[in-house]
Amino acid sequence: MTKHTPLVVGNWKMNPESVESALAIYRAVRKEIDAVSGVDVVLCPSFVHLPAINTERGRSKKVQLGAQNAFSLPSGSFTGEVSVPMLKEVGVSHVLLGHSERRTMGEHDELIAQKVVFALKADLDVVLCVGERERDEDGRYLEWLENQITASLEGVSGKYLGQLTIAYEPIWAIGAKEAMESTAIHEMVVFIRRTLARAFSSKYAERPRIIYGGSVNSHNIEDIMENGEVDGVLPGRASREPQQFGTIVTTVKKVLAKR
Ligand code: PEP
Repeated sequence: MTKHTPLVVGNWKMNPESVESALAIYRAVRKEIDAVSGVDVVLCPSFVHLPAINTERGRSKKVQLGAQNAFSLPSGSFTGEVSVPMLKEVGVSHVLLGHSERRTMGEHDELIAQKVVFALKADLDVVLCVGERERDEDGRYLEWLENQITASLEGVSGKYLGQLTIAYEPIWAIGAKEAMESTAIHEMVVFIRRTLARAFSSKYAERPRIIYGGSVNSHNIEDIMENGEVDGVLPGRASREPQQFGTIVTTVKKVLAKR
């Protein structure tokens, strides 16, 4: 089994309201994770807060910067969109694509796949979010998920898979009271790896990291990492609370060091 560097991606969504508050969260997170090494820590603030946080980072890359979306072309008449070259200029190294909240607003697999291809070729690390809205007793959601993954990766060449992370985020567990049960997360990790092996050669299928998102917090992180067998996590709400986020990063490091 390939050993991956663990990854923790904080999705701030459309929060906080001011750049001052964004900087305050960044500084506090930076302090919390200062002593932790060997974990890739990525924060995804709003587009408009990226430049200020990037300047605040200075030369330190302890916290890497992610965008919550990026368009599939470098420039042009696409009102309201933000391109990969624009993001790279403000220090962005990662991009979330296909988040369920964007899919709900109308983004479909075909567009997401175009964005994934473009971002990977432009040397960004892509965190592709996938996950079913609900589960049925017959397990048809598995076929649905396999289709979603393969369609969202249409046109991606296997040689880029080292830059790819699959974030499994069952929609019913996002913003919920509780995360998905850890043993069930493990089953999905196996399923997603098998899906990748069907879509790409086994040499490439081992390369992507598989992480979990959906109500991750400082209380459930140990169980998720220990029994979910993921390469990391994608917290939303907990990523804006520096102490909780710090505990999540430290726990990820602790658990993966034992593997
Ligand atoms: C998310 O934003 O993708 C997410 C998983 O949010 P939360 O951790 O708040 O459920």
